[in-house]
Amino acid sequence: YPTVGDTLSLSAEKNPDRTALVYPRKDQSWTYREFDERVNRLANALSERGVEKGDRVSTLLFNTSELVLTMYAASKLGAVFNPLNFRLPAGEVTYILNDAESSVLVYEDAVAEVVETARDDLKTVTEFVHVDDPDADTYFYDLLADQSAAEPNADVSDEDDYIVMYTSGTTGRPKGVVHAHRDMIEHSMSVLVDQQLTRDDVGLSAAPLYHSAELHVFLIPRIHVGATNVIQHAFDPEETLSMLVEHDVTVLFGAPTMWLAMLQANPESYDLSALRLGGYGGASMAPATIRDVHERIGCDLIQYYGMTELGPAVTVLYPDEQLEKAGSAGIPILNHDVRVARLDADGNALAPDEEAPTGTVGEIIVRGPALMREYWNSPEKTDAAIRDGWYYSGDLGYADEDGYVWVKDRADDMIISGGENIYPREVEDTLLEHPDVIEAAVVGTPDDEWGEKVVAYVAAESGTTAEALDSFLLGNDDLADFKRPREYAFVDELPKTPSGKIQKFELREDDA
Ligand code: AMP
Ligand code: MG
Repeated sequence: YPTVGDTLSLSAEKNPDRTALVYPRKDQSWTYREFDERVNRLANALSERGVEKGDRVSTLLFNTSELVLTMYAASKLGAVFNPLNFRLPAGEVTYILNDAESSVLVYEDAVAEVVETARDDLKTVTEFVHVDDPDADTYFYDLLADQSAAEPNADVSDEDDYIVMYTSGTTGRPKGVVHAHRDMIEHSMSVLVDQQLTRDDVGLSAAPLYHSAELHVFLIPRIHVGATNVIQHAFDPEETLSMLVEHDVTVLFGAPTMWLAMLQANPESYDLSALRLGGYGGASMAPATIRDVHERIGCDLIQYYGMTELGPAVTVLYPDEQLEKAGSAGIPILNHDVRVARLDADGNALAPDEEAPTGTVGEIIVRGPALMREYWNSPEKTDAAIRDGWYYSGDLGYADEDGYVWVKDRADDMIISGGENIYPREVEDTLLEHPDVIEAAVVGTPDDEWGEKVVAYVAAESGTTAEALDSFLLGNDDLADFKRPREYAFVDELPKTPSGKIQKFELREDDA
């Protein structure tokens, strides 16, 4: 098997003069040959500065050409790439870099303050590489100058570690998910068939590249086949739409919220005729949004469901079944396998061979060739997550009679009240249909009579009352009455992680 770095070298041999990377923010546009040579120069520079196989090389970058260069350079050296979320505060950055024992941090102007705040607490980083500031101690483009463009001398195998990617858990500290090169090659091949990717495609990276969805489901497979990649520093609906036009983009991935934002930005006034495929993931898409994208943006849609621990894609919902199966996460991607493990009376999932019957909710468990090796430095957490080769996703859901997977909620969030399982997401979605509700989070709190009691935390227009919301839910035919919150707490804003996930454990602690 090739390594991730090899896939770039091979693409460059086959497509030397085709455009590999376009980064309009810095007026950069490189052919595969030019891109590969820059990667080699960077790899040789890092090697000269002491970076060796197995060392961690971190980035705190928005979407930039330098993030992509660093990823492939690290890969060619056998160093382990460690991309950080550019929105993290200094404390989180410090935790991750120290936990990963990283030796290099590549960063940019937009996060310079955070890096300065963290700097003295970073125990292992010896090279601080700045991608914007020519006067910095180490300037990215000074590193590249005068370096050989030849392939670096490193003995890297497909079994070596390629990445350690920290996932933003909603409880506790983030965990470092470790993938080998081979995981990514297998994963790439499983997703590029669904996208029918060819080297004539042009992809736009608008969703963050520090996250596995954009990096592994979209960018790496495109470089694998020799397609063109346009990099947008950060998503902005108007700018994204303009870039789609300017670069004749054929494939774009975004969270459902990004598609909604583009729908609100008058997409009809842009010529999006080149765009053939829109990807989404992280959540399913409402049928009305699917219809709007079809009609007003004019592209097919493809949904992926998955998690960092798997590479991340696990299931796919194809373009021709978006409406018919709206809300479902689809069927397993090539070479992957999904089951629903039955829950015991306490809501804990049983062994992989104890499958829940069709239509019955259990924990979604998955296996495939891109399953992570381990959580960095955490053998107990790894053992708890993987049983008999199956990864326990922590997602609750069911399989329908056609084998399609439906994701209901996170297992940790499920409420058992009076012996009934209640999925907060369902209650939250119904509350959000009320015109005065801005945000809602539903949690279970201990209750002597019911075991757990349903409590809603709501941010709403002033004057909204618990009585009004309760009668709204009572009048809703889709939500069973016993699922209604017994208690409401009105807040200005819900607590969130730096990446925007609501932190329910804070709400539960708050109440206890
Ligand atoms: P992450 O590891 O940050 O990619 O987050 C993975 C989690 O996001 C999964 O365990 C699911 O809870 C959620 N998720 C990802 N894709 C989907 C999807 N298509 N539908 C519903 N939930 C999703
Ligand atoms: Mg995660």
